[in-house]
Amino acid sequence: MTAYFPGSAGNVLTEFDLPRDARIDAVIARTAFERPTLVLDTALVAENYRALSDGLGHAVIHYAVKANPAPEIISTLVREGSGFDAASRAEIELCLSQGARPDRISFGNTIKRAADIAFAHGVGIDLFAADAEEELEKIAQHAPGARVYIRVISEPNGADWPLTRKFGCASDRVIPLLNHAAALGLDPVGLSFHVGSQTRRAAQWAGTLDQVAGLWHAARAEGFALSLLNIGGGFPAFYGDEIDAPTEYAAQVMALVTERFGHVPHVMAEPGRGMVADAGKIAAEVLLVSRKSETDLHRWVYLDIGKFSGLAETTDEAIRYQFETARDGDDTGTCILAGPSCDSVDVLYEKRPVQLPLTLRAGDRIVIANCGAYTSTYASVGFNGFPPLDLMVI
Ligand SMILES: *Cc1c(COP(=O)(O)O)cnc(C)c1O
Repeated sequence: MTAYFPGSAGNVLTEFDLPRDARIDAVIARTAFERPTLVLDTALVAENYRALSDGLGHAVIHYAVKANPAPEIISTLVREGSGFDAASRAEIELCLSQGARPDRISFGNTIKRAADIAFAHGVGIDLFAADAEEELEKIAQHAPGARVYIRVISEPNGADWPLTRKFGCASDRVIPLLNHAAALGLDPVGLSFHVGSQTRRAAQWAGTLDQVAGLWHAARAEGFALSLLNIGGGFPAFYGDEIDAPTEYAAQVMALVTERFGHVPHVMAEPGRGMVADAGKIAAEVLLVSRKSETDLHRWVYLDIGKFSGLAETTDEAIRYQFETARDGDDTGTCILAGPSCDSVDVLYEKRPVQLPLTLRAGDRIVIANCGAYTSTYASVGFNGFPPLDLMVI
């Protein structure tokens, strides 16, 4: 498996021999932004869809809408033939409004509003996730006879942004929930899990797949004719640490699946981050560079974007964004990077400070790479008067 550094020679160049993000860079270079803006290139989303599909083989993609619900992304993916995983009525309506067919939409949130289940059923959606008796009862009442899959808690595997604990049931609950679904007149078709977001290497999936395959075979031995395996998301984006290239990553995951499950008729994958992260860059601005004392080792660099206006995934410094400035190439020094709001948790990187040019100063543009996922949707309405992230689709 080769290491994947976007923009590196021979790997992801376009037919014009430009880096993939050249169009985004050109738009950022010629635009004067009044507020932090995510510039998103839907052509890159289409490329990512194809790269992942190529590796996934017979598995079908249901894009995790929450990663970035820009209507232009949804319509691009409809054209590419993608399915969608929605978490709420609003996400379902968005997908339908962009031309997605209801039979290509799954309702994958395990914590659904009853009225939303009824709405989904009414528009023809027939595939729901559950991890508890009460959720199955809501589905049976409002979407009678629907297909359901049971979400299982997966063991931690070293993902950079784990999604365990809150979602899924423990292993010993799987058979009882399948039984309960059947007793309620639902059609229990399979299992789902999420390895954890930003799982950088395909090999990290092995342990989770061992665990879920054990449950799968046990359920089949109990007489459940399971036919659908939903492998969730976790497909990584490049944030500075090496990742496996998308097609090879997806192919290796599917090889690991087949080794353990044999041939599964319906495999679903729900990439979010891996589909959109590297399709967008944020254009932001440096508001202040300062030192707290004469002897301070670090500079503090304050940006016009922070935790409340799009960079929520810097929580615990889990996701480490890459920064580009016009002064790259000048000598660098360590900085504590912070957002603009009057809340002291609005510090982006302090435990592991970032290296930025010593010449950086207030008013400079700073571009944050690979920001297409979990930024615009994670922005507050305008905490402290700082505007939420603006969006420009090219
Ligand atoms: C968020 C989410 C995803 C997407 O995860 P990524 O790590 O961004 O690929 C997929 N499935 C479900 C159920 C999710 O909640």
